[in-house]
Amino acid sequence: MSSSLLFLDSSTSTASHLLPFSRITTPFNGAVSLRRSVGPLNVRPFVLSPLRTLSVNSSNNPSPVINDKSGGEASAKIIDGKMVAKQIRDEITAEVLKMKEAIGIVPGLAVILVGDRKDSATYVRNKKKACESVGINSFEVRLPEDSTEQEVIKFISEFNNDPSVHGILVQLPLPSHMDEQNVLNAVDIEKDVDGFHPLNIGRLAMRGRDPLFVPCTPKGCIELLHRYAVEIKGKRAVVIGRSNIVGMPAALLLQREDATVSIVHSRTKNPEEIIKHADIIISAVGQPNMVRGSWLKPGAVVIDVGINPVEDANSPRGYKLVGDVCYEEACKVASAVTPVPGGVGPMTIAMLLSNTLSSAKRTHNFQ
Ligand code: NDP
Repeated sequence: MSSSLLFLDSSTSTASHLLPFSRITTPFNGAVSLRRSVGPLNVRPFVLSPLRTLSVNSSNNPSPVINDKSGGEASAKIIDGKMVAKQIRDEITAEVLKMKEAIGIVPGLAVILVGDRKDSATYVRNKKKACESVGINSFEVRLPEDSTEQEVIKFISEFNNDPSVHGILVQLPLPSHMDEQNVLNAVDIEKDVDGFHPLNIGRLAMRGRDPLFVPCTPKGCIELLHRYAVEIKGKRAVVIGRSNIVGMPAALLLQREDATVSIVHSRTKNPEEIIKHADIIISAVGQPNMVRGSWLKPGAVVIDVGINPVEDANSPRGYKLVGDVCYEEACKVASAVTPVPGGVGPMTIAMLLSNTLSSAKRTHNFQ
């Protein structure tokens, strides 16, 4: 799949109440609505959870959660993205409140949704709820499927010029008649909280340069490694997948942290030969259970980004979600594994909120 940004993260939708929205209908065809939601500060106490430590091939560190899901032979620890994302949202809530009290500024995130895709509408709804849960203002524009590129860019320009908006996100995929690059390039780099602007990616790739924003999903992967104290420096890492939104920036991030990085893609011959030397694996492919336990180095740390629906007669929905990595097998070989769901997914939205907060802080020079 291209950049359809599967933020399957209902776990971040923790707002207990929604404020009424003001609806502004724009002149052309009446189908466009601009909604602004100024959410209440849903303040939760700042939870100072200790970092749980975990290192590759180490046995003397406390485990975050003992894996009890994969049978008697399993030894891997679960890297609990849901728990870490909640911790991060609590930290953001406290920082948003601090900023509001100190300088009267509340960070704002604008989301533009074009078309009627139900999955996209769900992701946008989840992002809005996540904003409200941490006290970030959310702005939403919904445009009909047949909108023109110029109409989308017009709204982007308005948000570019709106000082109450610190982050702009265009929900992908866009309808096929639009040039995604043209639309994404219209987002002011200072508000590119998705981190997809070529300048941000270029800075990420260059030594001695820093991007203004790091793309949310790869940033979430690295944050999980950090929060679980997985050593990256000097380790062999393999990233499976090289998409602009996940695989490629994940590889750049690992390299910036001094890992020795290999990238596996659809044309790689004998991927298992490369993967089995890796201390750290980040998989972003979109192929259910592609990576087998026998491909893993014992003690490796596995971050599984893939979200793949597979048939499941036992589920009321008729399907369940699995990752790219065969979870049951990986649990028997790896030292730590992210589950799907509940691993990287919740981190993606947490990183979006984090990028929006950073943008507001940078704009207002607030530490
Ligand atoms: P893309 O389809 O854009 O990219 C997939 C990548 O995987 C490509 O680089 C492709 O190689 C590579 N690939 C495909 N088949 C193989 C194979 N058999 N062996 C090795 N490499 C292969 O997907 P995305 O990066 O957008 O998403 C990847 C997965 O991550 C999806 O399951 C998606 O749902 C999930 N996702 C999850 C998110 C989250 O928040 N948890 C957020 C974003 C995505 P090539 O370049 O050669 O074509």
